[in-house]
Amino acid sequence: MAFSCTLTMRYERQLFFKFIGKEGQEKIREGIVTIVGVGSLGSISAELLARAGIGKLILIDDDTVELHNLQRQSLYDENDIGKKKVIAAKDHLSKINREVEIEIHDSKIDENNAELLNGIVIDGTDNMKVRYVMNRYCKSNKIPLIYGAIASSFGMVYFINEGPCLECILPHTVPSITCEADGVINTISYITASLQANQALKYIVGDKVEDSLISVNVWENDLKKIKVKSRIDCPVCSGKDENIELEKFIIRPCKNKAAFSLRERQQQKIDIEKVRKLMDTVSVETKVALIGNIDQEEIIIHPHGEILFKKCRDKEKMRMIASKLFA
Ligand SMILES: [Zn+2]
Repeated sequence: MAFSCTLTMRYERQLFFKFIGKEGQEKIREGIVTIVGVGSLGSISAELLARAGIGKLILIDDDTVELHNLQRQSLYDENDIGKKKVIAAKDHLSKINREVEIEIHDSKIDENNAELLNGIVIDGTDNMKVRYVMNRYCKSNKIPLIYGAIASSFGMVYFINEGPCLECILPHTVPSITCEADGVINTISYITASLQANQALKYIVGDKVEDSLISVNVWENDLKKIKVKSRIDCPVCSGKDENIELEKFIIRPCKNKAAFSLRERQQQKIDIEKVRKLMDTVSVETKVALIGNIDQEEIIIHPHGEILFKKCRDKEKMRMIASKLFA
C-alpha cells in the first residue's frame, strides 16, 4: 500500500530507521496491541506505540486517575484526576495520533473475559493474579505476552512466546519489593515501558526479539540480560493441570522488627478502616501502619497488604488472624 504524503512526513524518521523502513511501518500500521493496565507502564507504552503509528490499541483498566499517578503516568494531567483511566488515555492518545484505532474496556482481566486479549499483549498491571491469567490464556492461544514490572529503581521485561512462561520464571511468588512498600522512581517506568514497546515493535516488524529476561536498575545504571529456562513442573508449559492448590497466605521470617511477615498470595490490600474495628486494641495508627493487638498477638498492619507478627510463632494462628483481616 502506498504511503500518503502526510504519513510519510509523520513517520519520516522511523522510515529512515533501517530495521523498520516502509515495509516495517506498514506492518506497524496493521499491528494490534492489547495493553492490560494503563498505569505507569501501560500509559507510557500506549503513547510510544501510538506515536509509532500502531494500527490498533486495546486498553483494559478499571482504575481512576489519582493525583499520585501523575508522578509517572505520562498520559495523564491534572484535569484527568477522577476520570476513568481508559477514557482519559483514549482522549490523549487520539490527540497524539488520530489514525490509531483505540478500543477501551473499563474492566479487570480475569478468566471470564480473557478473550479480550488480542494481537500482542503488554503487561501494564501490578497484579500477579491478573498476570497469571494473561500468561495462561496467551500461552494456550499462542499470543505473545510482554511481561513488565517495576518497583523502587528496578524494572524487568520478559517476552513470553514459545519459550519459558511467566509461571516458569515466577512460580507463584510474592515480589520481594513493591511500589506500595518501596516506592518507585519515574525514570524506571519510562525505561521499562520503552523496553516493552520496543519488544512489541520488533515482533511486529519481524525482527528477532530478545528472549532473555531484561533486568534494569536505573539508579545504578545497570542493565542485565538473564537467560531463563522452562520449569519441568510448570503447570502451564507441561500441559498438566491448572487448578493448583496454593496456600492462601505466604508467611516468611522477617529480618527486622517482627518475627514473621504475612502476605496474601494474590497481593490483596488491607482496608485499615475495616480492620481497626476487629482489633482488640490499637496503640499506633498512621497512614502507612496500624499497630495493635488481636487475639493476644501484637501485630503491625500495612495497608499495602502485609501483616507483621511481633512474637507469634504459630503459623496456624497467623493464618487464622489473617483470614479475619483479609476478609
Ligand atoms: Zn511455564
